[in-house]
Amino acid sequence: MIEDVKLTQHFSFYEATQSRQFPGLVETNRRVGIQKLPRLVLGACLLEDLRAVLGVPLEVHSWLRFSELNGAVGGSTISQHLFGEAIDFSPLGPDNYESIERAFAICRNHLYAKELMFGQMIVEHGKERNSRKHWIHLSLGHPFRPIQKCRQVLRYENGVYTFLEQMDLRPWIL
Ligand SMILES: [Zn+2]
Repeated sequence: MIEDVKLTQHFSFYEATQSRQFPGLVETNRRVGIQKLPRLVLGACLLEDLRAVLGVPLEVHSWLRFSELNGAVGGSTISQHLFGEAIDFSPLGPDNYESIERAFAICRNHLYAKELMFGQMIVEHGKERNSRKHWIHLSLGHPFRPIQKCRQVLRYENGVYTFLEQMDLRPWIL
């Protein structure tokens, strides 16, 4: 059995590898996922930053998913969740359209203003999972994604992804 370990002050390896929907797959997820520890730490650092700016603890819905777990939740076959590079979370508290949109706006402003690197940030509505209907998907950017596909902001609603913007990439291009 893999022991739990802290990634950062507020996030742990167990939290990054849990699944409330498929508890029977969690142990394998942890055994396979321990190799992704460095990526999980990087994601946890981003989360710490957003947690501070939002001013509330974050509830992690889904983070690392080995292939079987990813398939079980209906994740994309090229999902960054497979590599521990993407996190679905929401601020602790109500689960509704307004609350997640408010959090999304705050995260978006922060990532922009602080020139933080990330892959995609998607505000997602209405695909109920882990008894939550609204959350933010955030993935690691360069060097885990091609630079030209980084700092993308999208919305998922009524089964459709809408591209909102790509933030400035100049700080990362020589
Ligand atoms: Zn996700």
